[in-house]
Amino acid sequence: MKDVLASLPALNERYSMFSCIASGADTEEPKFLFSAKDNLTSKDMETKCGSRILEGYRPAFDAAAVEKMRQYGGRLIGKNNMDGFGFGTFSTNSAFGVPKNPFDLERSCGGSSGGSACAAAVIEDHVSLGVSTGGSICCPASFCGVYGIAPTYGRVSRYGLIDYGNSLDKIGLLSSDPAALAEFLPVISGKDPRDPTSCAQPPLDLKGKRIGSVAVPEEALKGISKDVLSAFESSLDILRSMGVEVKRVSMPSLKYAMPAYYILATSEASTNLARYVGMRYGRQDGDLSLGFDDYFTSFRSEYFGDEAKRRILLGTYTRMAGFRDRYYAKALKVRLHVISSYKKVFEDHDAVLTPTMPFAAPKFEDISKMTPVESYSADFLTVPANLAGIPHLSVPCGYDEDGMPIGMQLAAAHWAEGPLLTFAEEWGSAFDVRRPEVPL
Ligand code: GLN
Repeated sequence: MKDVLASLPALNERYSMFSCIASGADTEEPKFLFSAKDNLTSKDMETKCGSRILEGYRPAFDAAAVEKMRQYGGRLIGKNNMDGFGFGTFSTNSAFGVPKNPFDLERSCGGSSGGSACAAAVIEDHVSLGVSTGGSICCPASFCGVYGIAPTYGRVSRYGLIDYGNSLDKIGLLSSDPAALAEFLPVISGKDPRDPTSCAQPPLDLKGKRIGSVAVPEEALKGISKDVLSAFESSLDILRSMGVEVKRVSMPSLKYAMPAYYILATSEASTNLARYVGMRYGRQDGDLSLGFDDYFTSFRSEYFGDEAKRRILLGTYTRMAGFRDRYYAKALKVRLHVISSYKKVFEDHDAVLTPTMPFAAPKFEDISKMTPVESYSADFLTVPANLAGIPHLSVPCGYDEDGMPIGMQLAAAHWAEGPLLTFAEEWGSAFDVRRPEVPL
């Protein structure tokens, strides 16, 4: 473990996966090392959430998930770089360095938990905490060729998580070892009086039912790249050889999930960001001779990133009197529709299976040419399970002709993380997962 700690600065120089690295040594040898997305508070390290507006913020408390990992014997080695406030799909909206894909440094790690996925791919025996609002665990897991799980909404306490969309945010795990997900999810789970949305919950059953049948929605196979489609089709053959029944289904509601998500998520985000005005948390260095309104405006204009500003505008618009019913209330109806279509499929199948992302990790130069809508559209496969609050897992399932990883995603019924986690381990024995070369 000492070697890992000593190599962190050099690793970070190469991959930019941390916005902050732990300093000092423990008196006791930790049981394991972990990292945490930088929207989870940590007592001994700055928590900046990928945004300049929070620079200098040193929380007085650990997020529940961080606290539980430490109590279980873990050492927090760093805070993972991320898109500012979780707004993004490629981690390019980070103010503190953009994580680079360990399979090709010219490409993205995915987002918004890009640093968490990068650390999981690059560091041996590592587990990192990620957060998903609309796909931010599965997307980077897929781009970096690791396993990632976002649990049922309410399974893990959000205490100490810097909110993006309160009704959507879920804390989960990423690792290149599927057994680590099964080991650590029970550690961070549980009802917590400090987060009223955390639930009394059925315990994780890791010895019970396995995934015996999956439903593949035809809508999920439109608009994905040739490489992803062919890796996905080959994975279906592996699944059949594992005794899993594969059925094609239709879930027409899936195509409305992405627009509904961007309305709900930005509506919630725009109210959450109202608290960052240069009075509490982090920076307070605006021009104090100004009146309140001018001070807040100049401070927010200076320190929020472009994407945060875009989301504040969008979310304020969709909640405005006169527009609320047309956008926000309508999006809530779509959300219910998505939930009921999953429930219907789960009557006959153990999971809904899709590719995780429509393409493999793109190059930074191509991302810079994308419009916001193009980049939002890349989330169309990860958003539905997040809207429904159901657990979902991404596993590596292939490599394109450039050797970039491709992932597939399984979404199961509420509280059915157990079968997903056992599946991850079974899949790990059936599929030959590649690790990136780390020349350090
Ligand atoms: N890419 C999505 C967004 O930008 C999801 C991000 C997330 O889950 N934090 O909102």
